[in-house]
Amino acid sequence: MKIHEYQAKEILAKYGVAVPRGEVANTLEEATAVARTLFTEGAHGVVKAQIHAGGRGKGGGVKVARTREDAELYAKNILGMQLVTHQTGPQGQKVQRLLIEETADIDRELYLGIVLDRATGRLVFMASQAGGMEIEEVAAKDPDAIFKETIDPAIGFGAWQARKLAFALGLKATQINQAVTFLQSLYKAFIDTDASLVEINPFITTKDDKLFALDAKVTFDDNALFRHADIKALRDTAEEDPLEVEASKYALNYIKLDGSIACMVNGAGLAMATMDIIQYAGGSPANFLDVGGGATQEQIEHAFEILLSDANVKAIFINIFGGILRVDRLATGVVAAARKLHVTVPIVLRLEGTNVEEGRKILKESGLNFQVGATMKEAAELVVKAAASL
Ligand code: GDP
Ligand code: MN
Repeated sequence: MKIHEYQAKEILAKYGVAVPRGEVANTLEEATAVARTLFTEGAHGVVKAQIHAGGRGKGGGVKVARTREDAELYAKNILGMQLVTHQTGPQGQKVQRLLIEETADIDRELYLGIVLDRATGRLVFMASQAGGMEIEEVAAKDPDAIFKETIDPAIGFGAWQARKLAFALGLKATQINQAVTFLQSLYKAFIDTDASLVEINPFITTKDDKLFALDAKVTFDDNALFRHADIKALRDTAEEDPLEVEASKYALNYIKLDGSIACMVNGAGLAMATMDIIQYAGGSPANFLDVGGGATQEQIEHAFEILLSDANVKAIFINIFGGILRVDRLATGVVAAARKLHVTVPIVLRLEGTNVEEGRKILKESGLNFQVGATMKEAAELVVKAAASL
């Protein structure tokens, strides 16, 4: 689960991470009120769009304001804008919230990040002097500019590792101890909240030798949210794809894509293979959907509804290996859903596993127009053909 920068900063601040003073604003009135309290004599600030995507600075969603009037003007311009960044896609994301903060007197912009390295199965603490810009670019062009410390889960993030990274960042002697505490606080926040990513870009030093998280990105492991009711409450569904929000209500693992062939599959691995074979047959998948091992008829109906509300969909590919989910039950659900929803797009199935013969019979006797492929490859070719013929 993703959260906004202002929420990430609130969490990190509880762990002792230094963040600039600021407040969130959901309306222009609120923005004006925040600017009034923040922009006292001589002080200036920054107005930042809050969306679940990075690259806001380059996209025009981060503006430094010299005066309170400037801040109000920027707030007016940014609030409600369709902000396009390299992470939002060309359609952009509508800005519904702002963070208004005191500006910091930046000396250097550095980078800090904690992620899981899937190759070693361990957390890696990354640090770089090339902060502020896109870290993916730094990683691609100059990988040596990113310092890494792998964390042993039995020991945790050692103070010696924090010191090593602090020195690698070229910090001054007066900043080292501050930085060690800063890095350790980030690690503690990561572990305590079951995060999957904590990223501070930029992590800044100021002219008076202080350290701040100027930006903060924190994402959480969805599978651990059940033990963090407070974090779960931070979810902002306005930032998510409406179809994905709908799917999450029925515990369906759905991710919208931009092709024309809708997929309904049981098992994440089979769902991945299904998307591959569609591409291989010359088509493109409209979504990833894993209905899970024990899908109920109700879930199958909701899955159909969600697939069909994507206007790009020209055909549906149902690829089921019946294990826990028996094929006859799936077939009954599919027939009921197709009738109830008056499905008009072609449906191609590939069925194997428990009670497959009964399942095929149910489809055949339904009188509805289903095509069944003998193999996964044949079914993929059939569905690509069906989608192309429309
Ligand atoms: P992102 O582009 O979405 O990652 O947003 P950031 O919060 O990282 O902001 C982008 C850039 O704006 C930073 O790298 C800074 O250079 C600049 N910036 C952000 N906040 C401030 C601030 O308070 N003062 C100044 N001078 N620059 C800022
Ligand atoms: Mn940033």
